[in-house]
Amino acid sequence: MNDHRSDKPLRPAVFLDRDGTIIEDRGDLARPSQVAFFADTFPALKRLNRFFDLFIVTNQSGVSTGAMTMEDVKCVNAHVVSELALFDIRIRETYVCPHKPNDGCSCVKPKPYFLRKAETDHGIDLKRSFAIGDHPHDVAFAENAGAKGIYVLSGHGEKHQEELSGDVVVVGGIREAADRILGPAGRKGPNP
Ligand SMILES: [Mg+2]
Ligand SMILES: [Zn+2]
Repeated sequence: MNDHRSDKPLRPAVFLDRDGTIIEDRGDLARPSQVAFFADTFPALKRLNRFFDLFIVTNQSGVSTGAMTMEDVKCVNAHVVSELALFDIRIRETYVCPHKPNDGCSCVKPKPYFLRKAETDHGIDLKRSFAIGDHPHDVAFAENAGAKGIYVLSGHGEKHQEELSGDVVVVGGIREAADRILGPAGRKGPNP
């Protein structure tokens, strides 16, 4: 924790996977025109953003394989963030791992590197935070830093569901994930 933030209350956050969770998973995206949002993403994130800081955390190994450049990924991410901003949804930071899973980097999910970075850089309370994603490593990512994981069946979620181990919260998509975090309709705040 940075000293200059230690006097501020810690904030809870939701860490969003990108492909298959808030936009369709169409493989390696190199251009903004390839982005296709799920319709549920806008209302779901709008509701979550009332109570939580929002981050995007995405593994983009296609940078390492040469399928696209880091500049391509940044351009696509900037488009995603700006489309969400049109609905007053604020993404505090977008974190990208450009490495292959077996590269031995420190930042690939399920390693909790970017959760720790958000904790340090943005004063996030990981114990009150969630990570949502369509791959088992998105759930493990949360659990590896004491946050709660929510698995969505959108994107590649159905395909990988049998790889889940342990007691995992599984929901249909981003709308149901927001419902799970915020509680039944009409509740004023997040589930305890
Ligand atoms: Mg995904
Ligand atoms: Zn990495």
